[in-house]
Amino acid sequence: MAERVPEGVDTSRPSIARVYDAVLGGEHNFPVDRAIAEEALRIVPEIRDVGRYNRAVLGRGVRYLAQAGIRQFLDLGSGLPTVRNTHQAAGDAAPGCRVVYVDNDPAVSAYGREILAADPLTALLTADLREPGTVLDHPVVRRLIDFDEPVGLMLLGVIHHLNDDEDPAGIVRTYVDALPRGSHLFLTHFCASGPDAAELERAMLSDLGTGRFRTLEEITAYFDGCELVSPGVTYLPQWRPDEPVGLPLTVGQRLMAGGIARKP
Ligand code: SAM
Repeated sequence: MAERVPEGVDTSRPSIARVYDAVLGGEHNFPVDRAIAEEALRIVPEIRDVGRYNRAVLGRGVRYLAQAGIRQFLDLGSGLPTVRNTHQAAGDAAPGCRVVYVDNDPAVSAYGREILAADPLTALLTADLREPGTVLDHPVVRRLIDFDEPVGLMLLGVIHHLNDDEDPAGIVRTYVDALPRGSHLFLTHFCASGPDAAELERAMLSDLGTGRFRTLEEITAYFDGCELVSPGVTYLPQWRPDEPVGLPLTVGQRLMAGGIARKP
């Protein structure tokens, strides 16, 4: 349970970041968030594992990017700090990596700044990713990200929080267009993989107002214009797993999909 309420945090309404934190078993959430997490747990009892699959693929993907030579990361919709954040995964793979976290939730800034305060190679920006111009030109971003060098653009578990009328594909394209060749897009997304996903989508759209489950084809289309790295867009546990993954996949294992692509 959260012990104190940081400035700007409204505990009467659920927030995406705090619901995700509750799903992951974190402590930065409130009853209104936990009610949605519990409803999600009722629909998909494996829901906690889904958050873990997403955090696990974050680690594998960032390691891949660092090994591919990426030394700077723009992590949009970065979420509340939890185990193994992007700067830790990147730093373990290649010392000296720079990371800018961007999130529009005041709870993320409140808790995140404490964690990052002492690290000159990371920064946290409170901004809305639906305003790419504001994000890309922000002094915090410009201080750590060199737009003449390849960038790892991370959109993990966030584009499904943009509704169809907000032009999610256009927003992704605007960011990719702003990056130099050799940059990579790393994106994960709720996947419309069956009836449980459809029920969870209905509950999220009704209780939280966002949470679009898109098909594998729709998710793949976000990477248009870039070269998908092997194995392409897959369900998360199947993206370059460290250990073999048993088949058939469970409902929870098929609830999110994603991949990485290189800008040619
Ligand atoms: N990227 C992390 C991960 O994959 O583990 C966190 C994902 S969490 C489910 C989604 C995050 O996106 C939340 O922290 C939420 O506040 C943030 N978010 C949602 N809409 C956003 C927007 N328009 N601009 C910036 N951040 C946003």
